[in-house]
Amino acid sequence: MARTRPAAPALAASGEAPVTVLPGVGPAVAAKLQARGICTLQDLWLHLPLRYEDRTRLSAIAALQPGVAAQVEGRVVAVERGFRYRPVLRVAVEDGSRATVVLRFFHFRAAQVAQFAVGARLRCYGTPRPGPQGLEIVHPSYRLLGEQEQAGLGDALDPVYPLVEGIGPASLRKLIGHALERLPDAATLELLPETLLAGLALPALRQALLTMHRPPADADVAALAAGTHPAQRRLAMEELLAHHLSLRRQRIALQRHRAPVLDGGAAQVRRLLDALPFRLTGAQARVFREIRTDLARPQPMLRLVQGDVGSGKTVVAALAAMLAVAHGRQVALAAPTELLAEQHLASLRGWLEPLDVRVAWLAGKVTGKARARVLEEIASGQAQVVVGTHALMQDSVVFGDLALAIVDEQHRFGVHQRLALRDKGADGGSVPHQLVMTATPIPRTLAMAAYSDLDLSAIGELPPGRTPVQTIVINAERRPELVERIRAACAQGCQAYWVCTLIEEVDEQDGKPGVAAGRMEASAAQATFEALSAQLPGVRVGLVHGRMKAAEKQAAMRAFKAGQTGLLVATTVIEVGVDVPNASLMIIENAERLGLAQLHQLRGRVGRGAAASSCVLMYQAPLSAMARQRLQTLRQSNDGFLIAEKDLELRGPGELLGTRQTGLAAFRVADLARDAALLPGVHALAERLLAEAPALADRVVARWVGGAARYASA
Ligand code: ADP
Ligand code: MG
Repeated sequence: MARTRPAAPALAASGEAPVTVLPGVGPAVAAKLQARGICTLQDLWLHLPLRYEDRTRLSAIAALQPGVAAQVEGRVVAVERGFRYRPVLRVAVEDGSRATVVLRFFHFRAAQVAQFAVGARLRCYGTPRPGPQGLEIVHPSYRLLGEQEQAGLGDALDPVYPLVEGIGPASLRKLIGHALERLPDAATLELLPETLLAGLALPALRQALLTMHRPPADADVAALAAGTHPAQRRLAMEELLAHHLSLRRQRIALQRHRAPVLDGGAAQVRRLLDALPFRLTGAQARVFREIRTDLARPQPMLRLVQGDVGSGKTVVAALAAMLAVAHGRQVALAAPTELLAEQHLASLRGWLEPLDVRVAWLAGKVTGKARARVLEEIASGQAQVVVGTHALMQDSVVFGDLALAIVDEQHRFGVHQRLALRDKGADGGSVPHQLVMTATPIPRTLAMAAYSDLDLSAIGELPPGRTPVQTIVINAERRPELVERIRAACAQGCQAYWVCTLIEEVDEQDGKPGVAAGRMEASAAQATFEALSAQLPGVRVGLVHGRMKAAEKQAAMRAFKAGQTGLLVATTVIEVGVDVPNASLMIIENAERLGLAQLHQLRGRVGRGAAASSCVLMYQAPLSAMARQRLQTLRQSNDGFLIAEKDLELRGPGELLGTRQTGLAAFRVADLARDAALLPGVHALAERLLAEAPALADRVVARWVGGAARYASA
């Protein structure tokens, strides 16, 4: 073990002391802080400012610029109290620069009005905006000065903290100030051994925290705003390290479990390969080899297979399933939507049942006697492969002998759901192998940060015979031309999708349309369906949206798949996995509103057959420069990985992965797009820390990632 500083336990633990050790923090305040995830002193140290206000200098009123926050000092020269649409108080202030700025208040008390006597001296801070009579500042922060008062200027920028509900900004600042007074000395605060920090050329943690909370007057404000200040990089580095360590520990914990050894099975695999109507691509064969090697080991596999839409992940899953079946064990395959799960069911039944493998189906709508029967088959082990939706994860589902749990489109599930499925095969110290699949290609940097507890495989090649989709970007005004184009395509026996997307903001919690949004999206689809049905009398039009009953949705999908409808009007519910090779035209409305990765997913619904396909991205003018660039990226590339990199760059990781399961959005300082360059160093540091000072690794995780809950189970 490397030399690490002897820790002074009392001081070292001070960051872990509860907030109630601070003056003025009783149970009520503590509860409010806790609601925001702030429980200990170090949580307060890490509650970092959103931005800063510079009260270290005074500006001349004449020098004020619209939009640039500043501090001024002067005398009241006029006061006007009015009521137009709502009460308003306007206070004109002048200084030696002989210019006037108007302070405007919409909320004020009578006492305040009295303060602003003509001639009163005051100092105020705010952002001037152009008003009817020159610049004005709405609701500035201000204080009155005595006639002779020489008020000093601050020597540090004032931090503006993210709000904590129920605690005013001033109290919060004071609280954090008290917490910072208890920052231990640099050596004690530092958890990372000096030997590991040397060479990083970053400030010590103590210094970094103090700089962030109280940047000196001459701090590089631009760097702070951009998040590239060395103090921020120091914190980002440690935060990334903590997240990485927590994932590594999950992985180490998982490796302590045993798993069924699923070796051999060559004959069964050969039979399936021989029965397939195609040959595996090189990439599919390679990924299957990787999975096969994992499954033959006595440790549980946890592997993520990434493959662009249409790359053929399902058959790889089926081959993996054969290895478990060859050992007389069970396999579960879960998909996030019923539509997708049904499609897997059809594929797996088509491939496996001729080989006498019993494939069972369990979804929410399987009820009553049918459900009881399936549950019985699952429990007895008679059902060898069980395909389904979230329903598979319910408590009532008990597997006789689950050896492999497969989760498709895993980012649509939470980690706990994946674990719930896995635990159905837990038996003593043994757990099933896990295979997770995603069609959202994950940029390397993101994968490194978000999935360092998983092994990664990529199917980076499409089956032969696919013609790349031609992508066209057009103004929504040209809609009539598109209707013509659909008419022509359908007349030739081709099929088309018309995707209606939501115009409203999406639910910010997980980046997916909320309930209200789903309703609006559905009604937009309904209206489009009616309009297109009227405009295309010769075409049979179908409709699918998220608010239809499952049976209706499936009927519509089935009709489209069977070619009974020529045009399918849909919401983004068709995004994942739907496979209709005869569809060769897709039109996406309001494409500028969707993420690149999502558009790429949608586009993947066409180009699945031999016919040349097109995807039309329709936008509402005017298009921002950023939106234009995004759509351009799609027009120019069919490469899901490249598109994902761009999406990460333009929209950040939350959009790409969904934030529910990764907790990535919970980064306090780090930003994966910005701080990616830190990752390799962070990973190296993590390995050394785990090897040389595992107890410190635990404390780094506790400091940044918080309570045990997040990493307790792997
Ligand atoms: P995804 O990776 O998007 O889940 P699927 O597994 O649904 O892709 O496969 C898409 C289509 O490609 C399916 O119709 C599947 O049968 C077919 N397919 C898979 N592998 C091959 C292959 N090697 N050659 C030809 N077609 C293939
Ligand atoms: Mg798929």
